[in-house]
Amino acid sequence: MLPFLTMKSIPHILASAPVIEAKKQKLIQQCQQLKAKNIIPSLKVILVGENPASIIYTRNKKKFCEAIGAECEIIKLPKALSEKDFLSEVKKIADNKLVHGCFVQLPLPAQLSHIDVGQLIPPDKDVDGFHAQNLYELMKGASTKSFLPPCTPKGIMTLLKFYEIPIAGKNIVIVGRSMIVGKPLMLLLTQRDATVTLCHSKTKNLSEITKKADIVVTAIGRANFFGKEYFSPGQIVIDVGINKDKNDKLCGDVDFEKVAPIVSHITPVPGGVGPLTILTLVRNLLQVAQKI
Ligand code: NAP
Repeated sequence: MLPFLTMKSIPHILASAPVIEAKKQKLIQQCQQLKAKNIIPSLKVILVGENPASIIYTRNKKKFCEAIGAECEIIKLPKALSEKDFLSEVKKIADNKLVHGCFVQLPLPAQLSHIDVGQLIPPDKDVDGFHAQNLYELMKGASTKSFLPPCTPKGIMTLLKFYEIPIAGKNIVIVGRSMIVGKPLMLLLTQRDATVTLCHSKTKNLSEITKKADIVVTAIGRANFFGKEYFSPGQIVIDVGINKDKNDKLCGDVDFEKVAPIVSHITPVPGGVGPLTILTLVRNLLQVAQKI
């Protein structure tokens, strides 16, 4: 692995706050320009049940929308909702011409969990970036300005760009192959000329693979799983995990206390990738509203 010799000015902790601060003004301005044309960007969040984490996530999304001048309504539906009623509610919201973007907050209760929610929202309102048409554009390598990219992967790209972290030609290891993080991120990074290795629970000798990477992205959902044996000096670590540790404290997949002293740069949890996911969601919302 080659150390990133040119990156002396990049802070050790890659926090999201400066990224958000830098992007927020532009979003406020875009909202004001839309309002001058009588367009108020409107997001509807469909929340079924009362999952505590989902309530916090949706509240944070609403807060960010309102901070930039967009509207966000959380539509709360009962946990015992039937499939028929759920589909009819989603359709009603998605068909509303005054709604620019909508999404279903996951996870859904057991009786609805088999539904592929990514296909329920029309692609031009799919601010989560899960619809097959948006995923196809992603696979083709289209510009993310021409479709709605998935929020967490695009948020990570925004972070890397903001901190001027080179991607082209780098060896990047992603651990976690989900549809919402690992796989789409692999495509975005490949499009930017990185060489990407996608690892998962069946990967053999994982630490040998992560140790050789320039950048390691962890997205497995296991509190403090990655200790210092997975890393080597000079690396950049992007921790996507949002977990609770044994003391019920929010933490990532990486054991931050042990790993941060070894690596060159690392994202914290909280205050790392999470807020950038919300940033992308709102950027996607404005992208839709601007096309009207
Ligand atoms: P997921 O759908 O459960 O996928 C987890 C992935 O991790 C799977 O590919 C799984 O492998 C792999 N994995 C699990 N244990 C592993 C192990 N011991 N070694 C190697 N790979 C392992 O999870 P997700 O939805 O992508 O979320 C992952 C984490 O990111 C969670 O903590 C979630 O809360 C967080 N997240 C954060 C944001 C954000 O905004 N920051 C957004 C989305 C998700 P297999 O495929 O082999 O099962």
